[in-house]
Amino acid sequence: MYGLSAADEDIQARARALADELIPFEVEAELSGGLPDDVAAAHKKRAIELGVFATNLPRSLGGGGCSTLQQVLVQEQAGRVTNALGWVAATPPSWFPPVATPDQVERYLKPTIRGEREECYAITEEGAGSDVGAIAATACRDGDGWVLNGVKWHVTSFNSADYCFFQAKKIEAPERVRASALTPATDPGGGAAHGGAAAGGEHLLFLVDLPSPGVSVVRTPAYSHTISHRHPIVAFQDVRVPAANLVGAEGDGMLYSREWFRFERLMVAARCTGAAERLVAEMSAFASSRVAGGAPIASHGLVAGMLADSVTELFAARALLYETARAIDRDPSDALTAHAQCSMAKLYCSEMSGRVADRAVQVFGGRGYMRENVAERFFRELRVERIWEGTSEIQRMIIARQLTNRGVRSLA
Ligand SMILES: Cc1cc2nc3c(=O)[nH]c(=O)nc-3n(C[C@H](O)[C@H](O)[C@H](O)COP(=O)(O)OP(=O)(O)OC[C@H]3O[C@@H](n4cnc5c(N)ncnc54)[C@H](O)[C@@H]3O)c2cc1C
Repeated sequence: MYGLSAADEDIQARARALADELIPFEVEAELSGGLPDDVAAAHKKRAIELGVFATNLPRSLGGGGCSTLQQVLVQEQAGRVTNALGWVAATPPSWFPPVATPDQVERYLKPTIRGEREECYAITEEGAGSDVGAIAATACRDGDGWVLNGVKWHVTSFNSADYCFFQAKKIEAPERVRASALTPATDPGGGAAHGGAAAGGEHLLFLVDLPSPGVSVVRTPAYSHTISHRHPIVAFQDVRVPAANLVGAEGDGMLYSREWFRFERLMVAARCTGAAERLVAEMSAFASSRVAGGAPIASHGLVAGMLADSVTELFAARALLYETARAIDRDPSDALTAHAQCSMAKLYCSEMSGRVADRAVQVFGGRGYMRENVAERFFRELRVERIWEGTSEIQRMIIARQLTNRGVRSLA
């Protein structure tokens, strides 16, 4: 099915094998708030052994050098596993190699591709989420380096990462705003400072080693899902980085973030499709064996309808997902179309998986409300897929803008 080549099927099978090995650890991860470090490290090692780690990076740097379709096939399998255990099939920043300096390649990129270092992204702020352009974090040139200030929200994997990409706006020295002045706890009016401090500045992206003097966790909120990757609020206060840690050209920070969003949106779509496959498989198996009213519940029309709708939507999502990936492989230079189609894939697949998870909980009945049940976990976990990497509303805005500018035949 789906016209996969032998190489595609091979990497898909390896990723599926990894996912099947991880699934038995889900309930322990759910009930313990994650897995012990040594177990998580063994899973990462296994992902590397199976060749499903860093599939999105070139072979010349030690990555898998996979096609976009193959990257999607791997992430789809990773998405079959709850509690983010599938994240061990990691995808380091694929936008980075073309702009990384030789020094950055050696210090950051190659060790990340080998699984020795781990990155996180510090972009979102209290006053800037969907509207990344509104960030208030600042970068000020100081001698042979830069001084960074800002407070970042939801910094996923900060607890395991050993460096982060920090996005800020360039300011001149007198405008410098201390992070402490932006911290809500010390200045309830910090929001106003956010907008004014660095408005109109060029966006810059930096590599910040973790830990670094001046980087501290403000607090670590609890979230709906139970995963070992935390999302703390992190303050950067007068953090000094060498000039060598500026990523690419001054003013290009937003370009790199956009490129990363495009990639991640497709991978979110892939993981959501994998989650939906798992849910459809689990709920149809349950519905075939669970007897109520003298017959398997799958034979009751109202339950059968939920199964039929779910597998139909899964098929539609997968067709959209694979075709989007294939279009990128056919013409990687058409970034405009890819941008809109990745948004379409993320929008449809994330919303589809949410609907499927909701039906799965219903099909499992009371069991579907127990945290030991896969449907219950996915029901909570999949909700964020409609929020991060751009909310569903933002995806719709991107899609509609291109539709009205370029016409229906450019997109569908
Ligand atoms: C668990 C989790 C992990 C995250 N990890 C990271 C991370 O690692 N690094 C990072 O930098 N960020 C991260 N984020 C941040 C995430 O990308 C943002 O939450 C997301 O982009 C939405 O921004 P916001 O929360 O500020 O919502 P807002 O931008 O305030 O949006 C609120 C609501 O308004 C709607 N809205 C906003 N603007 C528009 C518009 N123009 N048109 C229509 N509707 C609009 C939104 O769709 C949404 O419904 C994470 C978030 C979560 C929840």
